[in-house]
Amino acid sequence: MYISRRGFIKLTGMGLASLGLSGLGFNLRPVRAYAAGLKIEGSKEILSICGFCSCGCNIIMSVRDGRMVSSEGDPDYPVSEGTLCSKGAAFLSMHNNEHRLQRPKYRAPGSDKWEEKDWDFVLERIARRVKDNRDQDFLLKNGVGQQVNRVETIFQLGSSQMDNEECAVSHQMLRGLGVVYIDHQARV
Ligand code: SF4
Repeated sequence: MYISRRGFIKLTGMGLASLGLSGLGFNLRPVRAYAAGLKIEGSKEILSICGFCSCGCNIIMSVRDGRMVSSEGDPDYPVSEGTLCSKGAAFLSMHNNEHRLQRPKYRAPGSDKWEEKDWDFVLERIARRVKDNRDQDFLLKNGVGQQVNRVETIFQLGSSQMDNEECAVSHQMLRGLGVVYIDHQARV
């Protein structure tokens, strides 16, 4: 039977602790009662992969009633051996966070107020602005007559909350539009 390092530590730790303490006459009932109150009690462990960079660290998610209640590194993952960088360590709070915006916010030109809008409004607005801007400023040739096919008046700044695949898709889309100014704020 294959037992992972994590599984082995759990099994031996639980077994030795129970044998040792109960053998010495300790009453383990309060310990069990405490364990029952742990935040991962009754949850199911699901092994996932952090998508924020190509290290692809394993993350163990504890899920209860369809909601993630804990996330931690995987000691069996050979690259990081259970450690996570700040982005991976914040995995849980990225999913469950009352400060996280749930709906798009829009500030009209000249306004000092943010308004809550639905996605249809915002996506239509972004598409319209990108199209108009590109139609107006698309450059076929540069100043010395070389073919460039680019638009210099749109800039895209990525986010460290975008995973590898999202970055790849957005990059392909922007290159297809002729956007050349592209950067990413992740500096880990
Ligand atoms: S972002 Fe951090 S935790 Fe995620 S895969 Fe990369 S190194 Fe690992």
